Amino acid sequence: MSDVSGSELRALMARVPSVEKVMASAEFAALVDEYGRSQVLNALRDALDAWRISAKAADAAASPPLSALDTAGLHESVAAALRQRNRSQLRSVFNLTGTVLHTNLGRALLPDEAVRAVMGALTQPANLEFDLATGKRGDRDDLIDELICELTGAEAATVVNNNAAAVLLTLSALAAKKEVVVSRGELVEIGGAFRIPDIMSRAGAKLREVGTTNRTHLKDYDEAINPNTALLMKVHASNYAISGFTKEVGIDEIAPLAHIRGLPVAVDLGSGTLVDLSEWGLPREPTVRETVEAGADVVTFSGDKLLGGPQAGLIVGRRDLIAKIKKHPLKRALRVGKLTLAALEPVLQLYRAPEKLRERLTTLRLLTRAADEIHGAALRVQPALQQAIGARYTVAAEPMFSQIGSGALPVDVLPSYGLVVRMTDGKRGGRHLLALEKQLREMARPVIGRIADDALRLDLRCLEAPDEAQLIAQLDAKTGAQPGTPTDGN
Ligand SMILES: *Cc1c(COP(=O)(O)O)cnc(C)c1O
Repeated sequence: MSDVSGSELRALMARVPSVEKVMASAEFAALVDEYGRSQVLNALRDALDAWRISAKAADAAASPPLSALDTAGLHESVAAALRQRNRSQLRSVFNLTGTVLHTNLGRALLPDEAVRAVMGALTQPANLEFDLATGKRGDRDDLIDELICELTGAEAATVVNNNAAAVLLTLSALAAKKEVVVSRGELVEIGGAFRIPDIMSRAGAKLREVGTTNRTHLKDYDEAINPNTALLMKVHASNYAISGFTKEVGIDEIAPLAHIRGLPVAVDLGSGTLVDLSEWGLPREPTVRETVEAGADVVTFSGDKLLGGPQAGLIVGRRDLIAKIKKHPLKRALRVGKLTLAALEPVLQLYRAPEKLRERLTTLRLLTRAADEIHGAALRVQPALQQAIGARYTVAAEPMFSQIGSGALPVDVLPSYGLVVRMTDGKRGGRHLLALEKQLREMARPVIGRIADDALRLDLRCLEAPDEAQLIAQLDAKTGAQPGTPTDGN
């Protein structure tokens, strides 16, 4: 390999057009119009520099094509670089993981009513903290606290950024410098950074553990109470289940004990459903209303888990305790924005018509989607995927199980259908499957599946009609553009 000679190189460099001349072309005027002059200028300089560097490094036979230097060639590369650079980093994906409420993929998807409300709040002024009846300053909680109370049977309610914030605020307001009694079996960690003992110390409260990991009795709570106790607390175990020789004390038993001793009971319900999901064949979870009726004085739960709304933490309970929580300085730091409130209200309103909920609430619709219907989608997508990824892989439509996700009901699974991709030669295909998984993840709208048991698995539960057509179109476009199967030796 010999470098290009000095005179050849000088001749090549003389072909590089002037920046001014290229910028003055009609094609580049259009780019300037879209992206602004300085961005286009920088991208053009980068493209020319890249050409010079590869010309210097190449041997004479392999120098970069001169066509890349004419206005059309430069326009193509600069436009592509600008598109790439200005592409949003938060992108829509296809969630084919089989986990409906996938925390890393943004949890609940919102119904159209919520989308319209958010659009309004984004583009028009709203009475966020303005009382339309009196013309005076209002409280943002007033917009939806009545609705939350109607749906939960609680006396009062407030909303903060997420459920972790709801628990932190509740403990800070009700138990700072005092003790909180919690069962050892409920000292859970949820999603890495949320650990009950850590939140407790952040809130300035002292954790008083009672019972053992698998068994806690009412007398354990009773014996732990002392003059420094502020609160008894129960935490929904969410992402794990203890089975076998276990004993947990219910709210209905703890609440009377706490109330006799003059103490409140707080419950972190985690997902916190507003309706009995067993009506739709889903596993039963205690509802927020049942928890309030069983005697809980404060209940906290997430907005974007089973509730099916935006990220939020709802706190409901006794009027005096909610008032205390709202007065705490942390409330201001943890409050929700108008977009959250705009999205939450129409989602909550859907619960007023429970018989329509399955069809209208996206989360419930996805969770209850029949395996037969998902099978139909799998049969329609299968040929497009097989075509797009080539004969090295074999794509089959097979039954599988979806998960609810977000720590909700961890032991229960939903019968579903999906596409399973294996190596056609019957080999295990570790790196080839990884390469395929990456290829799908790098598509215009990334396709997110999971690898398990020597196969790439794409659960189609969350692929509803418009998305199904979009996925097929995206795969068809790839087939036309020569699928890049991973090469050997990488
Ligand atoms: C999910 C969960 C949380 C955290 O809720 P976020 O809304 O994600 O902040 C707290 N406690 C329990 C029991 C949970 O399941």
